[in-house]
Amino acid sequence: MTRPESAVHDVDDAGAVDDYDVVISGAGLAGSAAAILLARRGVRVALLERRSDPEAYKVLCTHSLTANAYPVLDELGLVPALEKAGAVRSEARWHTRWGWIEPRAAPAGPELPYGYNIRRSVLDPLIRSHAAGTPGVDLLLGHKVTELVGEGGRTVGVRASTPAGAREIRARLVVGADGRDSAVAKLAGVAARQHENTRFGYLAHFRNLPLRGGIGQTWFLEPDMAYAFPNDDGVTVLAVLPDKKRLPAFKEDLEGSFHAFVRALPDAPPIDDAEPTSKIIGLVDYPLHSRRPTAPGLALIGDAALTGDPLWGVGCGWALQSARWLAEEIAPAATGRGDLDRSLARYARRHGRRLRGHQFLAADFAKARPFNPVERLMFSAAARDASLARHMHLFASRLIGPLRFLNPLALAKASAVNLGHRRTAARPGRRPAVSVLGRSRR
Ligand SMILES: Cc1cc2nc3c(=O)[nH]c(=O)nc-3n(C[C@H](O)[C@H](O)[C@H](O)COP(=O)(O)OP(=O)(O)OC[C@H]3O[C@@H](n4cnc5c(N)ncnc54)[C@H](O)[C@@H]3O)c2cc1C
Repeated sequence: MTRPESAVHDVDDAGAVDDYDVVISGAGLAGSAAAILLARRGVRVALLERRSDPEAYKVLCTHSLTANAYPVLDELGLVPALEKAGAVRSEARWHTRWGWIEPRAAPAGPELPYGYNIRRSVLDPLIRSHAAGTPGVDLLLGHKVTELVGEGGRTVGVRASTPAGAREIRARLVVGADGRDSAVAKLAGVAARQHENTRFGYLAHFRNLPLRGGIGQTWFLEPDMAYAFPNDDGVTVLAVLPDKKRLPAFKEDLEGSFHAFVRALPDAPPIDDAEPTSKIIGLVDYPLHSRRPTAPGLALIGDAALTGDPLWGVGCGWALQSARWLAEEIAPAATGRGDLDRSLARYARRHGRRLRGHQFLAADFAKARPFNPVERLMFSAAARDASLARHMHLFASRLIGPLRFLNPLALAKASAVNLGHRRTAARPGRRPAVSVLGRSRR
């Protein structure tokens, strides 16, 4: 259990100045993970969360953690607790106009890497209580960061509003893990580079909504998108992400439009037999953001540094990964045993190297356009070839970057697969059948 505020920190000293090595704003996924990983390296951490409820969680999420999250969850020691809580392995298949891409382990090969589908109402309190129980972390609930303390051109602390009044907390490093609208980034004047997202999205939870094969499904409908993920406790999350041009008509009858959209999906899940367990919630304007992840005395992790397009379902994995990169790079310097600015520069380089390419592709795909020629090549070949389906799984799981995904060998293999497919199709009586948007086409 997460401890209540009064048990984890004495707030009688409102107005006093506290000193820590690191102060983190935001006890969501990124902030809690960073606090744990830093404290294990001997760093004294103040973890501030504006919400007072230890069970608070992010509502706007479809809770599918890609396989890049697994090593961090494992290092955090959360895997047994997640499995006990009923987390579902995040296996998935993707519908394209060439049929389903169904990544499967190679015969006699290792199992495919996986993450977990687990509702944030379970995951967020779990990781936060884990942080609260980590020696070296003070979880301060009900602490909203409202100002940064600066000295000599660098950030040296924060001021927070708390139920007991204002409080100043100083530290060698301030970490903004406070999400997409990061107050820390704004207060530090770190601008966000925005990329328009020309899709809108709505999601809802259901029970009794079986999915084919019991695994996640994503529909690429060019340009519309949809996905469905089985979660813990028998809950299936359904999300639709149509082109914004459809928004006015869609909003006229939200429930009717949502159901009609799902019903029209190829191999549609039986939504009319399912029991809704949440409202339909969504977002009509959700641009992608990237920010420079460091400034003097300051680092950004998770959505505060980079907010991708929700349609790829990768933000939770990146929140956890960026927390780990930061902890690995800055822990010694945060305790005064190294050059903090150099450590921050290393973190910034690592962050950019790992995520810039993904964000570039996501920003382009967020233009709600049909597949471009390279996507057509790779997606069509992956629907026809098991090893390319596995290759695509590694990319979708963010275990490889765009350069490895589109390496010359993979492109050559995809071309050969498609050529072979065309030759087979041209032979009289040997034309392979593929499912196109639910209809069987030759
Ligand atoms: C519709 C939708 C669906 C998504 N689906 C998926 C998915 O399926 N898979 C996936 O991997 N990602 C998904 N994402 C993205 C994912 O939700 C985020 O990337 C992830 O939550 C980022 O984690 P974070 O810790 O950086 O930020 P958050 O989870 O936003 O946590 C930020 C924390 O900071 C706190 N905070 C904010 N301001 C302050 C302040 N001033 N002082 C103190 N505390 C503060 C907040 O209360 C919160 O606890 C989705 C996003 C959307 C919008």
